[in-house]
Amino acid sequence: MALLDAPPAPVPASGVPVDPGYAEMRKVKLGTVRAAFSPEVYERSNAKAFGWLAFDVALYAVLLAGVYVVPGILLKLLLGVLLGVAVALLFVWAHDAAHGALFGFTGTAEVLGSIAMLPSINMYRLWIYGHNKAHHGFTSFTMIDWIWAPKSPEQYQASSRWSRFVYRVERSLPGCAVHYVLRVWWPAMVTFRPPKDVRKRNHFTRSRLVTLAYVVVASVLAFLFAGGIGGVIAAVVVPWVVFTYLLAFAVYLHHTHPSLPFFDQRDEWCASIGQVACSTIVRTPKVFETLTHGILVHTPHHVDTKIPFYRLQRAAADLQPVVGDHMLEYRFTWSDVRQIFKTCQLYDYRAKTWYRFRDEPGRVAAGLEAA
Ligand SMILES: [Zn+2]
Repeated sequence: MALLDAPPAPVPASGVPVDPGYAEMRKVKLGTVRAAFSPEVYERSNAKAFGWLAFDVALYAVLLAGVYVVPGILLKLLLGVLLGVAVALLFVWAHDAAHGALFGFTGTAEVLGSIAMLPSINMYRLWIYGHNKAHHGFTSFTMIDWIWAPKSPEQYQASSRWSRFVYRVERSLPGCAVHYVLRVWWPAMVTFRPPKDVRKRNHFTRSRLVTLAYVVVASVLAFLFAGGIGGVIAAVVVPWVVFTYLLAFAVYLHHTHPSLPFFDQRDEWCASIGQVACSTIVRTPKVFETLTHGILVHTPHHVDTKIPFYRLQRAAADLQPVVGDHMLEYRFTWSDVRQIFKTCQLYDYRAKTWYRFRDEPGRVAAGLEAA
């Protein structure tokens, strides 16, 4: 696959088949891929971990203070939008802590990860449960890893008008935050009800209560000192919406592309296909990559979640000579992103082909395709 720099081609009505090269990854064990990493990739640095946390917290604090002190709702809302970016950075830090990549599975990771995740109103332990087990354990095998799982044309045709409408909103560039709220945040955190022993063992209740306490305290303080309801919206709600959008967008780009497959048959999927051939490295300017904690340098994170975010660029370079032909790496451009959203709307799991809504095979067969 390698680096794609060609401009987006028009999407044919007959659909876009994925790159069949993914199947070659079946011959390679994930452990063999991991052996490509140099020892430095695993070197933890407390200075970097705490330094970046201090940076993220400082950014968050300055912007939050801004929301409190600036006059007028419009300025407050504008700062609330920027605050959403700081929330996203804190979340990425928490994500690494949750993988044990920063300090191992220690109390430090637990406490600081939980705190860093609070402004995103995600519940640390519940989030770990879905992310580490389902998403990382079975990446792009949609029977278990359900996030951003595309509907097949048959599933789409069998859906009600309302669920088709919601699905279209989810899979649009402006509406992708809806996917995270409806498929992850609400069902897998807010209303998730596993058996009691699982809940107790994983400390889900504690995570929920801490998050609820944050929401109450942050909202009351914003109401009292940041300008009433407008202050609550700017300090708590808008940052959450912006964060949710950014996360949904990033996770979409992590695993969705016209040349990447999804699977619904366990025997077609294996760990090295999921982690190497179903993940992406989306390159952005180096300074942006560093500031965003390498969130779009995703394939090495999937090959080994123990790699701290501040080593991902080196880890990506280490993977190149070994599995470069099977990794998808491309430079971020908005025209490519629009093309990905335009192409990857429905997915035929048998034929491994992406379709646009207007070209789904039922319509094409019935001669209904757009001219
Ligand atoms: Zn992860």
